[in-house]
Amino acid sequence: MFETVKCKRALSPSGLPGIDYALNPYGGCEHGCVYCYGPEVTHTEFGQWRIVKVRSNIAERLAKEVRNIDGTVGVGTVTDPYQYAEKRFMLTSQCLEVLRSAGLRVHVHTKSDLILRDLDIISGMKGEVGITITTLDEKASHVTEPGAPLPARRLDALRELTCAGVDTYALVGPVLRFLEGREEEFVEAVASTGVRRMCIDRLNLRPLLSQRLDRMGITGSAEALEKIRRLAGDSGMEVTDVF
Ligand code: SF4
Repeated sequence: MFETVKCKRALSPSGLPGIDYALNPYGGCEHGCVYCYGPEVTHTEFGQWRIVKVRSNIAERLAKEVRNIDGTVGVGTVTDPYQYAEKRFMLTSQCLEVLRSAGLRVHVHTKSDLILRDLDIISGMKGEVGITITTLDEKASHVTEPGAPLPARRLDALRELTCAGVDTYALVGPVLRFLEGREEEFVEAVASTGVRRMCIDRLNLRPLLSQRLDRMGITGSAEALEKIRRLAGDSGMEVTDVF
């Protein structure tokens, strides 16, 4: 479900490491990941989170705001910039064109292979792209990330971006118990894309998120996280923690 809205500002200051400004063309996210921190951070009910606010004038606003800034713009700091709405509205694509013309550095983060549609734009920009991958198991992905593209498509996107010379990283997080016993296979699959960096995120439980995951019987796994960290390091990847 979409709702078209106008935004007053395209950019907001960001407190994230290495990111000066945050840009989110969409409010809410159709991917509907059960572990998403977004609803709590934005004080939105989980059920409302999948009703997407399409910020239809964001590229126009951005074109005015980029005249006075320098630094790195994080694209998709709160919601996924390549969720399905982007296929139809192309706001992320338009914003990237504006940022490219302004010569600004970007940090794009997504779970979707739709990003490949904009490979020509992104490969001509300064910056980096991260793709989240939490499991290789399609059933686990259906349960935890019901609206997001399946893991194999994300690995393909990571491979294609990396092959095209884009500075990429894999975000593995949150590390859930589904990964226990499958750590080797998982790290091999990620490493096979050619990506050289992995960021790992443990499950950070906020009160409402904790209740939701408890009801579903979903838990994080410190054991899998440590094993993945070691295996990824052994395979030559640079490994960092998100928080
Ligand atoms: S893709 Fe990101 S923003 Fe969207 S629901 Fe999943 S965790 Fe939340």
